[in-house]
Amino acid sequence: MPSPATISRIIQALEPSATMAMAAKAKELKAAGRTVFDLSLGEPDFNTPEHICQAAIDAMNAGHTHYTVASGIPELKQAVVEQYAARHGLDYKPNQVTVANGAKHALHNAFTVLLNPGDEVIIPAPYWVSYAELVKLTGAVPVIIQTRQEDDFRLTPQQFRSAVTDRTKILLLCSPSNPTGSMYTPEQLGELADVAIERDLLVVADEIYERLVYPGHRFASFATVRPGLPERTILVNGVSKTYAMTGWRIGWTLAPAHVAAAMGSLQSQQTSNPCSISQYAAIAAIRGPQECVDEMLAQFTKRRQYVVERIAGIPGLSCAEMAGAFYAFINIREHLGREYGGVRVDDSSQWCLELLAQRGVATVMGSAFGSEGYSRISFATSMADLEAAFDQIAAFVQ
Ligand code: PMP
Ligand code: GLU
Repeated sequence: MPSPATISRIIQALEPSATMAMAAKAKELKAAGRTVFDLSLGEPDFNTPEHICQAAIDAMNAGHTHYTVASGIPELKQAVVEQYAARHGLDYKPNQVTVANGAKHALHNAFTVLLNPGDEVIIPAPYWVSYAELVKLTGAVPVIIQTRQEDDFRLTPQQFRSAVTDRTKILLLCSPSNPTGSMYTPEQLGELADVAIERDLLVVADEIYERLVYPGHRFASFATVRPGLPERTILVNGVSKTYAMTGWRIGWTLAPAHVAAAMGSLQSQQTSNPCSISQYAAIAAIRGPQECVDEMLAQFTKRRQYVVERIAGIPGLSCAEMAGAFYAFINIREHLGREYGGVRVDDSSQWCLELLAQRGVATVMGSAFGSEGYSRISFATSMADLEAAFDQIAAFVQ
């Protein structure tokens, strides 16, 4: 007899987040007294800028400590819409915005209101760890398409077209990409949009790293690259990465109004509103001075340069050019199939676990992103930690 507490089939099949798991392992080792250089979790190491924290204090003092509209306060929706108009020339209305408890929740909302069991979602790999699992939670099927390092991990229109079936509903794009840092040019996005239009598909475009783009690269929002795209696009964004606000849990979607309304109803039954205080802080982030974003980007730019040089300096390691975000997806294939300190290491998971156990460097296995033979590092960490971590990585593989 199965126990009445048997976990549902859908949750039994759910993989826990590998990024969160590696970060927890690193913290555990640290608490036990080990020196650990943690390059696992993608979150800015900076504190949330002072003026944003002050806005949260002001919100509390003004009594904004109650339930709000489930889909977010009108002032925040208005701020989001104005930001998209100013940055991208997009003409969204506040009723197309749904504010959620972080972009991860926003993605889950979008999949939940759009997908039926058996629908297919095309996900180019390597992909951020949560995409495939969030799709599976709805009973829909993630269709994983491997991209190539030689193509800077970008899905080609040919690959997209040949993956479409009569069950395909959504193409999921992440640009700039977690975990590779690669970004589509407006022209490349346009070619993918042509296929989406021709086959009448929706596109979920995760643009959470849009402000973290390095000199020499230009970001374009997917919704802008062909006329009419806002009707078939769900844009995902938030304050976590841009303003070092991962703990505040505010993300959002911009979507056709009926999709936004459905997400609002879902939230009204599921979480109610995202934290009222965080919503006021997010308004201050969006409407306030933006120098803090430039300052953080300047730091990330220095670290990216350093990381590129260190990877190039270690024989057998390589990565694609990072146009944005704060990750390097390091090709470790030449270093698999051998022993490390007497332990045989054949895949990326074993490699990452041994690197942590033997050298105290926490990274995330490529397999968690759907691409074996790689290890992801986040360089949203101090330069001192990056230097020490790369010294350890170099010693580990030599
Ligand atoms: N999308 C991508 C590509 C991410 O890397 C993250 C990182 N957590 C998220 C969404 C979710 O962000 P949030 O903290 O707002 O949930
Ligand atoms: N998105 C970050 C990462 O990929 C944070 C952790 C998570 O939400 O997965 O590391």
